[in-house]
Amino acid sequence: MIQEIQLRLSPKDASFAEVIKSASARQLGIKITSINAVQVLRRSIDARGKNVMIQLSVIVYSANDAPEKMPPPDYPNVEKAEEVIIVGSGPAGMFAALKCIENGLCPIVLERGKDVRERRKDLKAISIDHKVNPDSNYCFGEGGAGTYSDGKLYTRSKKRGDVDGILRILVENGANEEIITDARPHIGTNKLPNVVENVRKKILDCGGLYLFNQRVTDFIIENDKIKGVITSTGEKYTAKAVILATGHSARDIYSILNKKGIEMQVKGIAVGVRIEHSQDLIDHIQYGKDGRGEYLPAAAYKLVEQCYGRGVYSFCMCPGGYIVPSATDAEQVVVNGMSPSSRDNKYANSGIVVAINPEDLEEKYQKEGVMSMMSFVQEMERRAWIAGGKTQCAPAGRMTDFCDKKISSSLNNTSYQPGIISADMDYVLGDFVAPRLREGLIKFGKKMRGYYTENANIIGVETRTSSPLRIPRDPLTLSHPKISGLFPSGEGAGYAGGIVSAAIDGENCALAVVEYLKK
Ligand SMILES: Cc1cc2nc3c(=O)[nH]c(=O)nc-3n(C[C@H](O)[C@H](O)[C@H](O)COP(=O)(O)OP(=O)(O)OC[C@H]3O[C@@H](n4cnc5c(N)ncnc54)[C@H](O)[C@@H]3O)c2cc1C
Repeated sequence: MIQEIQLRLSPKDASFAEVIKSASARQLGIKITSINAVQVLRRSIDARGKNVMIQLSVIVYSANDAPEKMPPPDYPNVEKAEEVIIVGSGPAGMFAALKCIENGLCPIVLERGKDVRERRKDLKAISIDHKVNPDSNYCFGEGGAGTYSDGKLYTRSKKRGDVDGILRILVENGANEEIITDARPHIGTNKLPNVVENVRKKILDCGGLYLFNQRVTDFIIENDKIKGVITSTGEKYTAKAVILATGHSARDIYSILNKKGIEMQVKGIAVGVRIEHSQDLIDHIQYGKDGRGEYLPAAAYKLVEQCYGRGVYSFCMCPGGYIVPSATDAEQVVVNGMSPSSRDNKYANSGIVVAINPEDLEEKYQKEGVMSMMSFVQEMERRAWIAGGKTQCAPAGRMTDFCDKKISSSLNNTSYQPGIISADMDYVLGDFVAPRLREGLIKFGKKMRGYYTENANIIGVETRTSSPLRIPRDPLTLSHPKISGLFPSGEGAGYAGGIVSAAIDGENCALAVVEYLKK
């Protein structure tokens, strides 16, 4: 017999497989010995009542039934197969490469940055020496922006592709099995480098190429067809199809495409700050007076409000995490968040961002047409760098001071390693963002009692929430409408937001390449 049931257990009980099994037997009115296996399908936290409970959706297998294991995809040797160029090794590029192999094509992955181990040294240099390597940082290098991230895997929408398939590949390559069942799965920044390294080894084992320090600087296009790319080392790579998966921070790629007259479209984004509270405070707000205890994870939150006609919302919340310096070039300060798998740091941070549309921009930006949003964001990052003392120190203020329009005379401690400096956040954020953010924070304080506090800092600026441009593509062939064989993919092209959706988009582009090459 196979039966799906719902269980509601205390956090402690839900932590032990044997207790889940006996609770299943009790609920079904059968003996525990007649249960062969219990498979957890979904696990979520219900913190609405007085006592926090865990909701489990489980499949109970009795007698001779057992959970079926999905076989891993078959990756043939593709050494001699037709080559496909993939620019960028982020989630979109990596999963495009695996899908190419599955379909008998040979991926040539070109990555501007370094491998995960070497990349780590450059991350340290940002925090300690305040030096940003424009090819190797929190956004660029093996595994893309996802490698030293939180690794939250929230996309549950099956509309775009096989989410479970993506999660299974991540598990096969070293992520914890729980990501398959958790309602809010995350891998953790300590585990992600190993996962991306294993994916690289798989690609190489199958005969694909994976080349570092290869920044694409030009596209070879003849008669509106892509023929290949040229890299910073002067190398020329040719193929009939190029998957362009360079992420939202590759501004040089947008400039190259713009100079070449390749059509792009400006799009809206959301910008603002990271807010940092103590995790203990967030745990008490979310779980009640007893806080987290031994069996609950660091608490998360999600907030959204409308302020003066635009959405203000929390973005990429990192419980038990760190704020990290995510600039990709000199003379800019950008912040983002990450957390280890244990989520055991004493701080909780989240992006708090304001949605902004192209028509909201001042005229000086609008004049720049398709590049207008990128210029707006660039200028905000530069103001943050100036206000931060022209180092990687980030401008900051206490939440309450910002809302009272005051510059803070002192700041709370922070997880942001390069350091923070009290600054005029209105100057940094500008006239469109600052008032909406202020209003949003006050409203959030009314929704989540205790959230609005002088013991929280706002730290600027959070600007890399999505891409400021979209590279158009035909909805059926996924190829650029004017340049055949060019497949814009992932977050940088404007078709994904986050690790899972970028991975799915990479897979979809690889499948589109298969169709394209058949013709
Ligand atoms: C600190 C941080 C935390 C994050 N946390 C999360 C999270 O918890 N959950 C989540 O879902 N998302 C998170 N994100 C966002 C997530 O990382 C991105 O959505 C995702 O990585 C996008 O995938 P992508 O493949 O489209 O692009 P990217 O991951 O940006 O990859 C692009 C790749 O292209 C390379 N590249 C760029 N230009 C060139 C060039 N000219 N030539 C060759 N290579 C080039 C880059 O080096 C990079 O490796 C986080 C991002 C950051 C920075």
